[in-house]
Amino acid sequence: MRVARVSSSGGRESRRIEPRKPLPGPQDSPEAHAKHEALCTNCGKCCYKKIIVGRTVFITPFPCEFLDTETNRCTVYEERFEKNPDCLAIREGLQHSAFPTDCPYVEEYAPAEYRPAIDSWDWEGEWADFDNLAELLEVSDEMRERIRARGPWAKPLWVEANERIRREREASGDGRPLPPVAPPQVVDLREPPRAEPAPRLSAFLRGREPKDLE
Ligand code: SF4
Ligand code: SF4
Repeated sequence: MRVARVSSSGGRESRRIEPRKPLPGPQDSPEAHAKHEALCTNCGKCCYKKIIVGRTVFITPFPCEFLDTETNRCTVYEERFEKNPDCLAIREGLQHSAFPTDCPYVEEYAPAEYRPAIDSWDWEGEWADFDNLAELLEVSDEMRERIRARGPWAKPLWVEANERIRREREASGDGRPLPPVAPPQVVDLREPPRAEPAPRLSAFLRGREPKDLE
């Protein structure tokens, strides 16, 4: 896997987009906020670390250290922005392509130019650089070995969690929205066509600032 410096312009600037309609703000009722929060299916995908290849954001198999991978729940939700400065609010997540195409916030708020994060999981082509990627994404040793042991063709942890959540919600009659079923496994981690003459692999570390990888 070739790794190169992220340009501070180019792809990142192009993701400076605004939601298609206003997000709830301080002026809105608690009910409006609760309705907004209820859109989340707890699929967990936005809480996995990301990389950028060209202008495309890919969701890696590595979860945020604060994610409960059994339930896809944040363990520090009320103080997530203090505990994890790289945690993204909905607006920022939309600006930086942190959400996959089946995230309800994408359907509700994303403008036409939004580029969803890719959530396919064939990591075979990147596996030789597993440690490099894990290092760049600051994955703990324990999590690194847990993911490594599963191998490049394994479903990501969020797939298993979603299957479990769906079963539990359906069995209990829980009215909350169901997390999506897993997308088909596809080889997607390729450098997409783009205008720049030189191929470039960039990293989008933990969702916020592109980081110098050299
Ligand atoms: S991707 Fe969307 S639906 Fe899934 S956990 Fe994140 S905000 Fe919720
Ligand atoms: S800190 Fe943010 S990214 Fe991490 S699990 Fe919590 S909500 Fe997800």
